[in-house]
Parts: sequence; C-alpha cells; structure tokens
Amino acid sequence: MAVTGMREMQNKNVVIIGGGFAGSLAAAMLGRAGIDTALVDPHHEYPPDFRCEKLDGTQVAILQKTGLAEPILRAATWDRESWVARFGRVVDRRPGDQHGIFYTPLVNTVRGLIPGEVLRIAAKASEIATSDDLQRVTLSDGQEISARLVVLANGLNAGLRHKIGLTTEILSTCHSISIGFDVSPSRGQKFPFPALTYYADHPRDRAALITLFPIGTVMRANLFVYLDANDVWLKQFSASPREMLFELMPGLRKLMGDFEAGPIKIRPVDLYATRGYRRAGIVLIGDAFSTSCPAAGTGARKALTDVERLCNVHIPHWLATPGMDAEKIGAFYDDPVKRACDDFSLAKAYQLRTFSTDTGLPWRARRWAKFLAQSAVGGLRRLQARSRSSDFSTATRVEPSPK
Ligand SMILES: Cc1cc2nc3c(=O)[nH]c(=O)nc-3n(C[C@H](O)[C@H](O)[C@H](O)COP(=O)(O)OP(=O)(O)OC[C@H]3O[C@@H](n4cnc5c(N)ncnc54)[C@H](O)[C@@H]3O)c2cc1C
Repeated sequence: MAVTGMREMQNKNVVIIGGGFAGSLAAAMLGRAGIDTALVDPHHEYPPDFRCEKLDGTQVAILQKTGLAEPILRAATWDRESWVARFGRVVDRRPGDQHGIFYTPLVNTVRGLIPGEVLRIAAKASEIATSDDLQRVTLSDGQEISARLVVLANGLNAGLRHKIGLTTEILSTCHSISIGFDVSPSRGQKFPFPALTYYADHPRDRAALITLFPIGTVMRANLFVYLDANDVWLKQFSASPREMLFELMPGLRKLMGDFEAGPIKIRPVDLYATRGYRRAGIVLIGDAFSTSCPAAGTGARKALTDVERLCNVHIPHWLATPGMDAEKIGAFYDDPVKRACDDFSLAKAYQLRTFSTDTGLPWRARRWAKFLAQSAVGGLRRLQARSRSSDFSTATRVEPSPK
C-alpha cells in the first residue's frame, strides 16, 4: 500500500480523516468495494496507545459483516474458555468468545488490509469546507484534497470538529478509569484459568471488574474503577499493583496466586457526544461521534457498527445519486441499527457505574440477583458437561465379548 506525500490537488469520492480503528476499517472496506477513497492520518504506523485490547463475540459478529474478520482474528488470541468469579468463587466457566489483541497491532493489521488503490496521505487535516456537492479538506502541509464525502473518524481530537462549528457535550467527566497491565505468575507457575472476569465485591470499592485474558504469550489485565482522576489510590496502585489489587479484590488472591505486574497504564475516560453533526458533505463515526465507557466494553462495537452500516449500506447508496446534502447523510444517523447500538452503549455505561457503586438496597439486590443468576448458569453448564461426558463414556465403553 502506497503512503504518499501529495503533490497536486486530488479529487476523490470519499476522503476519510483519521486512520484509527474506525477510519482504517472504513478505508479497507471502501477500497475493497472499488470506491475511490483517500485516508488522511499523520502516522504511517498507528503509534503505541492504550485502548480497546480485545474483541468480544458481539463485536466479532459485526466484524464478520465487514468481510475483514478472518485476517484480523488471525492476529488476535482466542481465549477458548473464560471463568467468571466473585467473592473468590468461580461461578461459571463459559465458552470463550474473546479475542485479545493490543490496539496498535489491531489498527495496523486493519491498515494492512487497505488496498493499494486507496490513497494514503501522511498529514493532519486542518480545515474542512463542506457543501451540498463538493467538500474540500486542507492538510497540515497546506495542500488540499476534494471529495464528494468526508468521513470524520478523528477520534478524541475535538479541535478540528470545533473549528468547523461542531460542539462537544460532556455527558460524564472522568466516567471511569481504565488500568491496563501485563501479569505473569510468580515462580514460573501457570494461572489456572485461560481467561477470567472478576467482579468487585463491594460498591464502596468503586470498582467494576477486572478482566484477565491472553494476548499471544502474555496474560493481560484490564481493571476498571470509578475514581477521581487525581485520586491517590491510582498512584498507590502504580507503585504496588499486586498489593493494591488484592486489597481491592481479596478473593482474587486465591485464583491468581502471586504474580508480577508489568508497566501500568492508567487512562480516565470522559463520556461525550458531538453536537450539530447533521450537515451536508460530512459524516462522523466512532469516537468522533461519541465516546463510550471502556468498562462497559462497547467502544469497538460502536466503531464497528458505524463502519459496517456506513460502508455496506449508506455510502454506496449516497454515491449512486448526485449531491450530498444533510438530509441524505441524516439516513446514517437515523439508521435503527446504529441508533440501537449508541443507545445501548450509553445506557450500559451508566448502568454499570450505578450497578458497581450504588450502595442502596435496590442495587445491592440486583448485584446479588446477577451473582445468583451467573451461579445458576454455571451450575447448569457443569451438569450438562457432566452428562455429556457420561454419555460419551457409556457410548464408548467396550463390553467384554462372550467367550
Ligand atoms: C483506555 C481505553 C480502553 C478501552 N477499552 C475498550 C474495550 O475494552 N472495549 C471496547 O470495545 N472499547 C474500548 N475502548 C474504546 C475504543 O478503543 C474506542 O472507542 C475506539 O478505539 C475508537 O476508534 P476510533 O477509530 O473512533 O478512534 P481512534 O482510534 O482514536 O482514531 C483516531 C485517529 O484519528 C487520527 N487523527 C486525529 N486528528 C486528526 C486530524 N486532524 N487529521 C487526520 N487524522 C487525525 C489519529 O491519529 C487516529 O489515528 C477503550 C478506550 C480507551 C481510551
């Protein structure tokens, strides 16, 4: 795939601004559909970044619809089986549906699937002028590119959006904090679980859960807490991760045993939504449209849903007729699949936070109900597995032949 510095004014059907997960996926899909596309991003290779580190079953199902699942999943690590635990007790061992992959190789794998016909421009977009027919994008090096449609996929960088008159509504400041680190068992032991989700015991702990999942030969940990970004606990956690983790979730010690922790990444996340987006010539996707709570794990699902609907349904339809007015583009924002996904993501962000931190009786009851439901599902699964294995041993038992 050619990465180019531009020399002359280029004219494209679609120009995508931002080559993160959403923008790179869109470039790969549009390029494969034969749509004349350019992708603008300052980095040739996506740089190291702590973001989404696994794709779950729902996300993989949407990824299948992009036609790009197979090579992306090949670069990821399937967890095979995932244990669910609370209060030091394993309540379920469910079939694995998580695929672990660090964000940087995820995005770079997607970029590797962008066909050579897609023009890749290593620059920042600094200005966008939109109209009902033709859009003009000015780049950081002063050059310009025109297109019938701009796809704005520039993630958390709100500056460009504000420049073109869009606004950001902060829905929840520091909604949650994500903590990512590698863990390895001490003294060359092995963790007993292939992957583990461990829920916090008490709402006063202001933590949602920790997930442990394999990426290649590494066991990765993602811990999600609800604290102020300056809370001293975060500093203490960075200094003594094992001690602080076992103090937060004492029952985890029994399951993990002693472990060594790798470098700690801590990242607070605001929930925000971009406003004023119904405009001619430009469509917003992924985090550029709105963010999600990492604890709820819906960001990749939102980005995937946006790209799948946009590239499979809306862009081919829009390009088939002249013009690119606001009404035409509104069909994407009104897409019932996209709306349901966005609504689910926002509702889950608030619901998980309340579920994890509310000390009132109704929420304590809900937490217990969930724990009991998970235990019941786990118990049923164990019974089914036992009955399958006894059927198997009956079917394969060789009766002694009469002499
Ligand atoms: C700590 C953390 C943990 C997370 N964990 C999970 C999880 O477990 N599960 C989950 O589903 N989601 C998770 N998410 C959310 C998920 O990672 C994001 O929703 C998703 O990565 C957004 O992708 P994107 O393409 O919209 O943005 P990005 O990947 O941020 O891409 C934006 C791109 O735009 C480029 N850009 C910016 N400005 C310009 C410009 N002016 N011109 C050109 N290019 C520009 C940048 O270089 C970048 O390449 C997490 C997020 C965070 C922060």
